[in-house]
Amino acid sequence: MHNLIFILSLSFTLLACQTGDKIEDIVVIGGGLMGSSTAWELSKYGQNVLLIEQQDSIYTFGSSYGEARISRSLGARDDIFSFLQQTSVAETKDLIDFLNKVELQELHTMEDIYTTSPVTYIYSKSQLDEVEELLDGQSDKYEIASTAGEAKEKFGMKISDTTMVIREYKPYSGTLNPKVLIKKLHQGIRKSGSRINYNQKVTSLKKENGYYVVKIRDSKTGTSETILSKKVVAAAGPYNGALVKDIAPYFDHLISPKRLFLSFLKIKPDKYDMLTSDQKDRLVSSYPVAYLNSEIFYSMIEKFDSDRRPLLKVGGHFLRTDIKNLDEVWAMALTEQEIQWSKENTADYLAKLDLPIKSSDLEFDHGYSCVYSLTESEIPYVSHTLKNGTEIDSSFLLVGGMSGIGAKGSLAYGLIAADHILNIDNASLMYQKAKSALGARRLMVDLKNLDQ
Ligand SMILES: Cc1cc2nc3c(=O)[nH]c(=O)nc-3n(C[C@H](O)[C@H](O)[C@H](O)COP(=O)(O)OP(=O)(O)OC[C@H]3O[C@@H](n4cnc5c(N)ncnc54)[C@H](O)[C@@H]3O)c2cc1C
Repeated sequence: MHNLIFILSLSFTLLACQTGDKIEDIVVIGGGLMGSSTAWELSKYGQNVLLIEQQDSIYTFGSSYGEARISRSLGARDDIFSFLQQTSVAETKDLIDFLNKVELQELHTMEDIYTTSPVTYIYSKSQLDEVEELLDGQSDKYEIASTAGEAKEKFGMKISDTTMVIREYKPYSGTLNPKVLIKKLHQGIRKSGSRINYNQKVTSLKKENGYYVVKIRDSKTGTSETILSKKVVAAAGPYNGALVKDIAPYFDHLISPKRLFLSFLKIKPDKYDMLTSDQKDRLVSSYPVAYLNSEIFYSMIEKFDSDRRPLLKVGGHFLRTDIKNLDEVWAMALTEQEIQWSKENTADYLAKLDLPIKSSDLEFDHGYSCVYSLTESEIPYVSHTLKNGTEIDSSFLLVGGMSGIGAKGSLAYGLIAADHILNIDNASLMYQKAKSALGARRLMVDLKNLDQ
């Protein structure tokens, strides 16, 4: 036995010598919203973390790409996604406080990241049960219009009697800006003493002699190196399956990347200029919107252009298509039908806002393809991996399967991931509920179902 331990430690020492001697405590792979949030939360706990990202410091593709995501809190009683959103808001406040403290100036605000605005939900009357469940004991501030008359009176909207409208009003509900959030997370990570290596693609990830062997290629110089780490967090978004193929090959079956399109539309200048200031105000205060129809049309204001016209981001939550090549999907152009769908659904919503804008009054500014990482239940994972289907490996964690809902809970997923990897617990009931819905017990059930 002593001999075996000696041989193992000798072979490991030799490996460490070959790789430059340094053994990292924790490596986080992937610098999108999830990896950056996890690396920040670990740094906040005083850990020295290495975050590895294949892209340059300016993030140009990936599921977190863009400048707006809907941030919403409204959910049924004990809904984990409400908890995750609210926890993320609280954690983001801590990040802002930390940055202002270390920079000795009030340079950062929550408003750099969040645009507070009413969130509009449109339901069909056939979804009444769902709405009743949503509003039963609801503690978030909201208003509901159940008839056409109420919608006109409360929101200036013109809807049919088969439709209902709910509006959520809460600080930091509205939209959040992933680009700014990632930038601030990276500032926080560096300023607390952790490191971020950009342009470093992990090409192989294995466990040998109890340590993770991480092979990396520098995408600028083409050179390769190998580093060792005691613990690893995989947060590679849609690339997670490929990344962990030698550690936890089952994730490739549990998380499926699917393409979605995003269109960016503007109201033509002559038509926009004809709107009264009341109509313009109604337009702005009616975004973001989620229309809970079969495709789930959603839309938000990405930003305002130089002549203050809003750039409307439009997508369909269930309009998902298969991906042939993940590296190439980001550059795929939108089809004419996708652009037409975006215009027609936007025109339909603008008509509900009683604004005189038709589909032909909308111009397509640009669009791009993006990717959801989907799990069977559409609930993400923040989970240790499993050996032999049951034994938890507490040194490896995967954060992924974020579908179209992850952004609003970013720092909460990061917090739970950091707690897992450091074995820190939190007695709050909602925390426990979220942790269990995302974690290893659920993974065990999913793996059993996969086998059947
Ligand atoms: C179209 C769309 C709309 C959405 N709308 C909303 C919304 O309104 N509200 C909401 O809350 N959420 C929304 N989401 C969800 C949210 O944006 C995602 O859940 C979140 O961005 C996922 O972040 P991530 O870090 O898991 O993935 P990513 O952002 O993809 O990050 C993964 C990172 O890992 C890096 N990487 C991958 N492989 C390697 C490797 N081998 N080596 C090194 N680095 C690697 C990638 O370059 C990337 O930066 C939306 C998502 C999409 C796609």
